[in-house]
Amino acid sequence: MKEILTALERYLLYLQALGVNVVPAKKKIKKFLDLELSPPPKSLEDIRRELGHCARCKLSRTRTNLVFGEGNEKACLMLVGEAPGRDEDLEGRPFVGRAGKLLDQMLSAINLTRAELYITNVVKCRPPGNRTPEPDEIEACVPFLAKQIRVIRPKIICTLGLTAARTILSTEASLTSLRGTVHTIDDIKVIVTFHPAYLLRFPNYKRQAWEDLKLLKSLYNQVCQP
Ligand code: URA
Repeated sequence: MKEILTALERYLLYLQALGVNVVPAKKKIKKFLDLELSPPPKSLEDIRRELGHCARCKLSRTRTNLVFGEGNEKACLMLVGEAPGRDEDLEGRPFVGRAGKLLDQMLSAINLTRAELYITNVVKCRPPGNRTPEPDEIEACVPFLAKQIRVIRPKIICTLGLTAARTILSTEASLTSLRGTVHTIDDIKVIVTFHPAYLLRFPNYKRQAWEDLKLLKSLYNQVCQP
């Protein structure tokens, strides 16, 4: 210990001699998603009831319907998107618009159907003009995502797009750097892929998305259908 401190002191004196007076700390990433909830909620219905006619953030003023999420309460695989779009806001269901149709095709390409999964978003109300949710909106909504994860206890989460990846993994890393690896949070495996809406705009990325889907399917076969 003494040697470490001596070496550190020597290094700091060296920096000082170079004219460095401030040692930058590692940027602290705000951790939105806290899975250490106590006590955990009993059911998705309880969580939906707790959300009620939610007015915890400004998105409540412009939404038509809150989009809670849907699917299998006992799903082994959970998909997390960013936020409802126009069609979802009108219907109150996740991924029912064009991006949702592409998502269905992506799932079907790996022989999965919505009935086996649970699908939700980081924020439950549509941001005006489909803009990216703002940090205060994510902060207000994410405790409910954490509760959904606690009730469903999926073995795998697949994040769709950058906002979901960053929120779930508490990171500011790029999508490129997060793809292609199996991450872990609280014993849950996390796979990161593109948002289907992004793939509709930039179809060239579909090839890379296919690599992500193959990774997801092989993990699913290992973990969910051992
Ligand atoms: N985009 C999302 O992120 N979620 C939806 O539910 C629909 C579009």
